[in-house]
Amino acid sequence: MKVMKFGGTSVGSAQRMKNMVKLVAAEGNAIVVLSAMSGTTNSLIAITQSIKEGEINNAQKQIDELERKYFETAAELLSDNEMLRAANDTINTFFSKLRSYLDKTITEKEEKEIVAFGELLSTNLVILYMKEADMNAVLLDATEFMKITPEGEPDMKFIKQQANKAISRYPEVDIYLTQGFICRNHNDEIDNLQRGGSDYTASLIGAAIGADEIQIWTDIDGMHNNDPRFVEGTTPVNELHFEEAAELAYFGAKILHPTCVLPAKHANIPVRLLNTMQPEAPGTVIYNTQPTHTIKAVAAKDNITAIKIKSTHMLLAYGFLRKVFEIFEKYHTPIDMITTSEVGVSVTIDNERSLDVILSELKEFGNVTVDKDMVIVCVVGDLEWQNRGFEADVVNALREIPVRMISYGGSNYNISLLIRKEDKIRALKLLSQYLF
Ligand code: ADP
Ligand code: ASP
Ligand code: MG
Repeated sequence: MKVMKFGGTSVGSAQRMKNMVKLVAAEGNAIVVLSAMSGTTNSLIAITQSIKEGEINNAQKQIDELERKYFETAAELLSDNEMLRAANDTINTFFSKLRSYLDKTITEKEEKEIVAFGELLSTNLVILYMKEADMNAVLLDATEFMKITPEGEPDMKFIKQQANKAISRYPEVDIYLTQGFICRNHNDEIDNLQRGGSDYTASLIGAAIGADEIQIWTDIDGMHNNDPRFVEGTTPVNELHFEEAAELAYFGAKILHPTCVLPAKHANIPVRLLNTMQPEAPGTVIYNTQPTHTIKAVAAKDNITAIKIKSTHMLLAYGFLRKVFEIFEKYHTPIDMITTSEVGVSVTIDNERSLDVILSELKEFGNVTVDKDMVIVCVVGDLEWQNRGFEADVVNALREIPVRMISYGGSNYNISLLIRKEDKIRALKLLSQYLF
């Protein structure tokens, strides 16, 4: 069985929903993971923000507007009166629940409950349309089997057990529909897998049930060789190794959630990126490809902070790096890039939550400098070190751009360069021009 995940734009209107259901029907037997309709998660976050800031009139207006969109979508989607009535009842239930938060104190827990409404609404509408189309489909509640640990990691043992159990309850069913993104945490509260997390749901379910393939259906024909939002003339990459796709997703290729490749890679299940608006396009397939000895694609990750620690005691001082890293570990702050010299070390982080306290502790080891608003540009491909010339090509392409750090050799699959935010688009264009 395949897992088919449809993103926000692929369920973004009644017409798009009908279109995606057609693709599912053609597959016949699948687990279908849906995002919220595009724009909904952002609206829900804006609504919580308004409530938190005491702007209740504003929140009320935002809720009314969102609700109107759902009534309109249902009316366009469903022609059977009974189905339409059921859809309107569901919409009423969700929106009166949403309105009940207007006079509440919104904590992190309530915020997560509210943000979950998007996926709950889209799946509740689509299941009615599937029923109307006489499909043999069932809606499974993702919060019954998707779970994260206290560290925010997927609880794979639980997911495997419970997802298989949920499916085996309906052995005669063809289509198992469920929500992406949402889950429960160790306190059994509603939680989520972070923005864009529906991709992650799909690959976690795929790994849990041993799927034949995980399909990510979106609004573009696969992983392009550069970011199409900033560079013209990008083209899709037909095949990527799991490692290459993981690097691209982690370093900013928005088409995939940063960690979504991992479960598929561990379970060795191919991931296929496909376009709902152009389903016949080959897209991108991600699996254990043979080495190609080529550069595949470029991506960029924003909002990076670089920290340099210069120490007079670093020379021959074993244990120095450990002490530095322990500070980041203590404050749960992952490091993306690292470069060292005899007198110092530079690292980058993308999470500034604990920056002040980290800096004050680092100052005990030496001189600390910080560069904010930086961008990691990441060039990905089969860059095994005996393949000559790739790093020269990359550095050469960027010879006009000031580069703060370069990292190469950490894996066979990437070269990362740290540049200023204002140079990002020019750097991406130059890389496309020189490399492809
Ligand atoms: P969905 O809502 O289906 O999850 P996303 O918006 O998360 O879709 O991801 C698809 C978008 O990712 C594309 O519309 C495109 O603008 C963006 N994107 C960024 N980098 C790339 C890339 N290298 N290849 C393809 N798409 C990319
Ligand atoms: N709806 C969620 C978001 O917008 C999850 C997703 O679409 O993948 O982030
Ligand atoms: Mg996405």
